[in-house]
Amino acid sequence: MTDSGRDAMTELREYSNLIGGELRPASGGGTLESVDPATGEVWATIPRSTAEDAAAAVAAARAAFPRWSGMPAAGRAHYLRKVAAVFAENARELAELETRDNGRIISETAKRDLPGMTYLWNSAAAECAAAVEGRSVDFGPSSLGVTRREPYGVTLGIIPWNSPISTFSAKAAFALAAGNTVIIKPAEQATASTLRVGELLREVLPAGVLNIVSGLGEEAGDPLVRSRGVDKISLTGSVHTAKIITRASADSLKPLALELGGKSPNIVFADADLDKAAPGVTTQAIFTANAGQICYGGSRILIQRPVYDEMIFRMKALAERIRLGDPMSMETTMGPIVSREQYERVVSYLEIGAKEGAELVFGGRSGAAVVDDDRYAGGYWVEPTLFATGDNSLRICQEEIFGPVAVVIPFDTEEEALALANDSVYGLAAGVWTNSLGTAQRMFRNLETGTVWVNTFRKVMFPLEGVKDSGYGHDSVMAYTREKSGLFEI
Ligand code: NAD
Repeated sequence: MTDSGRDAMTELREYSNLIGGELRPASGGGTLESVDPATGEVWATIPRSTAEDAAAAVAAARAAFPRWSGMPAAGRAHYLRKVAAVFAENARELAELETRDNGRIISETAKRDLPGMTYLWNSAAAECAAAVEGRSVDFGPSSLGVTRREPYGVTLGIIPWNSPISTFSAKAAFALAAGNTVIIKPAEQATASTLRVGELLREVLPAGVLNIVSGLGEEAGDPLVRSRGVDKISLTGSVHTAKIITRASADSLKPLALELGGKSPNIVFADADLDKAAPGVTTQAIFTANAGQICYGGSRILIQRPVYDEMIFRMKALAERIRLGDPMSMETTMGPIVSREQYERVVSYLEIGAKEGAELVFGGRSGAAVVDDDRYAGGYWVEPTLFATGDNSLRICQEEIFGPVAVVIPFDTEEEALALANDSVYGLAAGVWTNSLGTAQRMFRNLETGTVWVNTFRKVMFPLEGVKDSGYGHDSVMAYTREKSGLFEI
């Protein structure tokens, strides 16, 4: 724990929306409480925004659009590099806030997330020029076809609670690089770090270019979704919310990008290097720093029978070494569940797994018993839990639990592994552990997922775009532009 960490954050903090370059409370003054998931205690308040706030954000973003989109790409790049510098200069404070806000442990936020944000904003700056590159087509001596890439206008990024600063950055940086102005709606369970970023960026970006409206989905998010002043929506969230947003946006027909949930298979073949595969399916993929609250978490572990017992033995040993506790301590390796509601949901799956007759391989406990420290007795703790079954139709095999709860299923042949892996409504990501190039190639081709990792997991290098109920579309500079065509006859 540092001076600027938990001890220094004892008084209730108050955060504001960022609208039109001003830090504002919600119209009507409503607030929501932000709870520290490690202790269960309220530590901050955030605005409970209304339709009026949503309308103000849309008006501010629309007013800022002509100037921002009309600026040369180099000008926008200059601003985005300044944003990258803000993330670098305030990395420690933001990492601690993110940890406080959603329980993602400090070693993850300080060492992985925040350095990643500086890189992301600088990458977006570097892509500003590419975002305005058009094409030309020669139709003969007196006829020239041209295209220009142009921004959509005002884009709305709706973000989840499990990785707020990263998702905020993915939705804001690329959209801004392409010349859009942006409204961000953070998740009510973990909003504070995003609002703090808003305070810092208010000093850097022109008024109205970036707006942040906090509050509940149905109160603050819905009017933004329905607004004719919003030209594109990118949601990272659940399938349930995606369906609501799809219906709500139908009357104003705007493009959507939906980055949704998953039930990712992580498949270990008998020829795999078990020294890599064991941590690869355990601590790398599901029993992670933020307690398995990860969209592409490898929550369905498929193991070929000859190495099944050996893998279970190794996974148990790795799980025993996971340390739950103070998220601000570098010694801690897994944090709490983000909120009471999500905690109760995850715990309900511990009961569902038992009732469905799955064998409990390890874990299964929740609450204060899991942490050896009274300060965290009120927190939302679930220990790494693994069920075993041969029946992929069980609810624990089909439904996204979004916590540190995984299921292991044995298989005999490659065909069986593929059939089990694809037997899911989701298709976000998959892991394959094998030393056979042929197996790896066939699995890569035939797995019905947007991403396949071979002999690794959870390394995002490309846009993570789902198939099936995991959604469609992604965040990149190009995805925030559209192509306009013209034909010039001389
Ligand atoms: P959620 O769907 O409950 O909420 C996401 C956001 O939508 C929040 O900001 C919420 O306030 C907002 N929202 C809810 N109802 C709304 C409405 N009617 N109109 C407008 N906005 C509304 O998701 P969550 O619980 O915050 O996050 C967990 C989910 O996100 C999981 O399913 C997870 O898999 C998914 N996720 C996906 C990715 C990915 O890249 N594919 C990444 C992270 C999380």
